[in-house]
Amino acid sequence: MSIQDPSSTRKTGKGLMTWIERGLGLGDSDRHETEAEADSAAPDALPMPPDTPRRAARRQMLADIADFIMTHDLEVNTFTLSTAHDYLAGHDRHLTRAIDEKLGTREPLSQPWLEDAAQRSGGKDHGQALNRLMQRMEADLEAFSATTKSAQSATTDYNQTLEAHVGDLARPSGPPPVEELVSIARAMLERTRELEHEMERSAAQTRNLRRSLDDARRRADHDHLTGLPNRRAFEACFTKEYATAKSNGEQLCVAFCDIDHFKRINDTHGHDAGDRVLKVVADTLAHISNDRCHVARHGGEEFVVLLRGRSVHQAWELLDETRDQMARRDMVNRATDEPFGQVTFSAGLADVFAFDDPRSALGAADKALYQAKDMGRNRIVLAERPAKG
Ligand code: GH3
Ligand code: MG
Ligand code: MG
Repeated sequence: MSIQDPSSTRKTGKGLMTWIERGLGLGDSDRHETEAEADSAAPDALPMPPDTPRRAARRQMLADIADFIMTHDLEVNTFTLSTAHDYLAGHDRHLTRAIDEKLGTREPLSQPWLEDAAQRSGGKDHGQALNRLMQRMEADLEAFSATTKSAQSATTDYNQTLEAHVGDLARPSGPPPVEELVSIARAMLERTRELEHEMERSAAQTRNLRRSLDDARRRADHDHLTGLPNRRAFEACFTKEYATAKSNGEQLCVAFCDIDHFKRINDTHGHDAGDRVLKVVADTLAHISNDRCHVARHGGEEFVVLLRGRSVHQAWELLDETRDQMARRDMVNRATDEPFGQVTFSAGLADVFAFDDPRSALGAADKALYQAKDMGRNRIVLAERPAKG
C-alpha cells in the first residue's frame, strides 16, 4: 500500500495530482478512472478510457490545484488543498475575492496569509471540505495499522514454523538431511528479517502520518497569530457546551468582544504592531479561559467567549474585570518606543438559554456589542432578552 505523507511539502506532477484526488474525496467511479490512468503508464496496460467531459473537467481542476500550490510554493496539506479547491471552484466568494486582490498586489501569497484570509471569510464549505479530508486521512491511517498487524502475524507464523523445524533436528527417529534444514532455516530467517524491516518502516510511517494528522487538526482548529481556537473550533465547542449545559441544568453565556478603534492602531503604527496588540488582547482574554470558559478568535479583531456554569451577571463581572485590566495597561510599540495609548475592547453578552437557539443568542450578543460601541466603547453591554409571546 502506498501512503502519501501529507506533511511532505512541495510535491510535483502526478504524485501531487493523485494525492489531491484522494484527498478531495472523489467517488468510487472517479477512483476507477484514476486507477485506469495510473495503469496506463505501465507497458502492458489496458488502453486509457475515453475522456468524458466530467473527467476532463476534474483533471483540469486537479491540475489547477497542483499549479496553484506549486506556483505559490505552498505546503501540501489538507488546509492548502481544500482552500485552493474552494478558491478555484469559486465556492467561497469572500475568499476568492481576497485571494484575487492579494494576487493583484503581486505580493507573495504565504501560508499564514492564506490561513488568515480563510478564517476571515469563515466559509462553511471550507470547513466541510476539511472535515472530509480529515476523515479520509483517518481511514488511511486505520488501513495502515491493519497492514502492520498482518505483517506482525506473518512474522509470528514464520517463527513458529522455524521452531518446529529446529525441533525436528532433535527428533530421535532421525532428522531430515541437515543441509536441507539449514537452507530452509536460512530462507525463513531472511524472510523474517525482511518482514521485521517492513514492520519497522510501517511503524515509522504510521507515526509520521499520525503526527501530520495531529498537526493538520491543530492548524485547522487554531488561529496561527494568537494561538487561540478559531471560529471553526468555537462553533464545535458551542454545540458541545450547549448540550452539556442543557443536560446539567447549568447556565451558559456567550460574549462577542471587539477591539476599539483597532484600525487606528494599524494606521498609526503599522500592521505588524497591530498584530502584536491583537496578541496582547488575545492573551488577556485567554487568562480567563478554563474547561468551562472558552475564548476563541472569531475573525479579524473580534473574539468570542463562552462561559458555562455562571449566571449572566457573574459572567458580566468577569468580563468587565478583564476589560478593566486591558484598559489599564500602558502599551508601547517596541519597534518605535511610541505609546499605543489606551487599548480597549467592547463586548456584548447574552444569556444563551434566554434565546431559542445558540445562533440567536450569538446574534443578540453581536447586537449588544454594537450598542456598546454606540454608547462610547470600552464597556460590556448585556443583550436584551427577547420579548415573550
Ligand atoms: P470599532 O471600534 O468600531 O470596532 O473600530 P475598528 O477600527 O476596530 O473597526 P474596523 O472594523 O473599522 O476595523 C477593524 C480593523 O482590524 C480593520 C482590519 O484591517 C483590522 N484587522 C483585522 N484583522 C487583523 C489582523 O489580523 N491584524 C491586523 N494588524 N489588523 C487586522
Ligand atoms: Mg470588528
Ligand atoms: Mg473593532
